[in-house]
Amino acid sequence: MEELNPFKIAQEQLDNAAKIMGLDAQVQKLLREPMQTVVVNFPVKLDNGKTETFTGFRVLYNNARGPGKGGIRFHPGETLDTVKALSSWMTWKCALSGIPFGGAKGGVICDPKNLSVSELERLSRAYIRAIGKFIGPKVDVPAPDVYTTPQIMAWMMDEYSKLAGQNEFGVITGKPLEIWGSEGRFNSTAMGAMYVLREAAKRAGIDLKKARVAIQGFGNAGKFAFDLVTKLFGSKVVAISDSEGGVYSEDGLDYNELSNIKEKTGSVENYTKGKKITNEELIESKVDILIPAAIENQITGANAQKVSAKIVLELANGPVTPDADKILFKNGVIDLPDFLVNAGGVIVSYFEWAQNAQNYYWTQEEVYERLDGLITKSFNDVMKTQQDYKSKGTKITLRDAAYIIALQRVADAMKTRGWY
Ligand code: NAD
Repeated sequence: MEELNPFKIAQEQLDNAAKIMGLDAQVQKLLREPMQTVVVNFPVKLDNGKTETFTGFRVLYNNARGPGKGGIRFHPGETLDTVKALSSWMTWKCALSGIPFGGAKGGVICDPKNLSVSELERLSRAYIRAIGKFIGPKVDVPAPDVYTTPQIMAWMMDEYSKLAGQNEFGVITGKPLEIWGSEGRFNSTAMGAMYVLREAAKRAGIDLKKARVAIQGFGNAGKFAFDLVTKLFGSKVVAISDSEGGVYSEDGLDYNELSNIKEKTGSVENYTKGKKITNEELIESKVDILIPAAIENQITGANAQKVSAKIVLELANGPVTPDADKILFKNGVIDLPDFLVNAGGVIVSYFEWAQNAQNYYWTQEEVYERLDGLITKSFNDVMKTQQDYKSKGTKITLRDAAYIIALQRVADAMKTRGWY
């Protein structure tokens, strides 16, 4: 049975790339584990007057290239190993994107669906008080992730500012515009993925106007990907799902109707103009582009053989396991790795942090143009690295290529700083 611990998977991916590139053994050892792991237990008053204790994490994986950067998840199934894996992927993502940050990640074990708005606010503030000593605009800068929102970022920034005794807008990104979030941040992850998809389709000779698309997940990432892939390229989204289940329609699904259904009933599976499908069926559906945009370990050794898409655009973090990697590669599927594809969020977070530091704000057009520039460069770097290895007689996946670039950049920073 394939091991599906995300941190073990992250280490396995690193080891693969380290072997291919001949990375120094001490550098590899340091990069296999986080530099700092913080676990906090903190009390929160519930609306019924009782108090409950919650567990939270903040992991700073590596800060050789700059302050930690990475989101905060509120999830009932959150584990330290998931947070560690995500913090390592943030390190590689920031390095590949060429932005001046290291990698970090945080999370709280909780079910936000069972908390009132005021409980959620108290929990968010309590978490920040608990990890306050370990974050800061020049230390480690959180952002939203699964089940956390711009409003939650606003409460967190406010709580941190109270601890600091002054406004610290740059402590957190993904904030609402009223308190100096960035234009274009709301859909930046999906927008970045679209620039990568545009370039990949161009190289593979795929006409996106005629492309059929399946998307797993209808949250921040998946929903905007649906909207953008239809608006920018005219592609047809034929399958969509969320945690409850999915829906398929040969004629294409209607974005506005799906959004209304999701809002009213809580799930896209209640869309009536299509056939109900499971998440497994979505992965295997006959499409040109498959966009996993939900959670980890969705394409595995057990179902990768059944993926018929020409391109897998990894919008979620860690949706493809190492066993699946090998199968997709063998089958000629263009699997665009997560920390290349979903870097748009952190790139625009970097823009937000830079704007906060300068107190000078950019237009949405400026944000998108700069995002396109950075992420298209990352895509070209990854393709070139794969090609360079091929011309030396070694066939490597796009994930390996992305890892090789990122590891080299982090290793170079550590070397220059005198860490080894
Ligand atoms: P979200 O909470 O807004 O949405 C998650 C979606 O996934 C929801 O529609 C939920 O119903 C669905 N989902 C949950 N469990 C599922 C399951 N077992 N099967 C199918 N669907 C399931 O989260 P998000 O921000 O959209 O993040 C999604 C993924 O994208 C995560 O892996 C996240 O780390 C990654 N990501 C997000 C951003 C961002 O800016 N939002 C940036 C980088 C990476």
